[in-house]
Amino acid sequence: MNLTINNLSKTYSNGVQALNDVSLTIPNGLFGLLGPNGAGKSTLMRTIATLQEPNNGEIWLDNLNILEQKQELKQILGYLPQEFGFYPKDRAINQLDQLCMLKGINNKLERKQMVEYILKKVNLWEARKQKLGTFSGGMKQRFGIAQALLGNPKLIIVDEPTAGLDPYERRRFHNLLAEIGKEIIVILSTHIVDDVSNLCTNMAIIDRGTILIQTDPGEIIKEFDGKIWEKDITGINMVAFEKEYRVISTRLFAGKNFVRIYSETNPNEDFRPVESILEDVYFYTLSNQS
Ligand code: ADP
Repeated sequence: MNLTINNLSKTYSNGVQALNDVSLTIPNGLFGLLGPNGAGKSTLMRTIATLQEPNNGEIWLDNLNILEQKQELKQILGYLPQEFGFYPKDRAINQLDQLCMLKGINNKLERKQMVEYILKKVNLWEARKQKLGTFSGGMKQRFGIAQALLGNPKLIIVDEPTAGLDPYERRRFHNLLAEIGKEIIVILSTHIVDDVSNLCTNMAIIDRGTILIQTDPGEIIKEFDGKIWEKDITGINMVAFEKEYRVISTRLFAGKNFVRIYSETNPNEDFRPVESILEDVYFYTLSNQS
């Protein structure tokens, strides 16, 4: 299955152009849409979920014309928005059952089996009778995925999912997404580079409404091999340094200030070569815009 986005543009009534001629082809698997805040990620996610209209462009899920066939899309879409509302006094199992009904699954036994299967899949079976208001951040996110999984979707959209999760919850959530992504298209929109590098088989970087690159994370990291260099710059004048070198990022470690730069050849012996990571690709790509 492929999701194909052709020439999608959106300008809000206040004049902000949130999407500028976006085209992407997204295959089965976990797809990372990476970009800074305000890049246009949520606008793109909401447009694919048909919650808002673009000014231009088309979106196809194989032969389904999403923007024209909204009802058909609803049957096969699972969506976890950034802000996910639920009734805090409801028990997890009851709320999923109701959402199942809203999805049109009228057979009681079928609903029961589906809810049980999904609660087990997202590891909330033990908490099924707990009120949602008592759930931790990680449990809420997994419940969000559970509701997105109802009705066996073919396409799942997850918008900025790991904000506020502790490292353990985040890893658990990642494992769950990776498992789901084996079978269907899962689009993960995020500004957190590690979410993408750990998980995604395919990705794009978006900024100011424009897709800057669509790539395989592993492949693009290899292309940066041998081109990233690090140096301790504690006490150095950064302004002069930035004029001389292509600075990618700086980090503080054990009280020292390290800088990473991009250079195709050894800049000088003060630098040491370091392994490239997706963050290098991300910052390099963002700073490469005219
Ligand atoms: P992201 O999800 O990457 O943070 P958004 O899609 O939310 O980006 O926003 C892209 C741009 O569009 C931003 O400049 C944002 O302020 C603007 N924007 C988003 N939603 C609206 C809206 N409903 N009305 C006007 N401007 C909006």
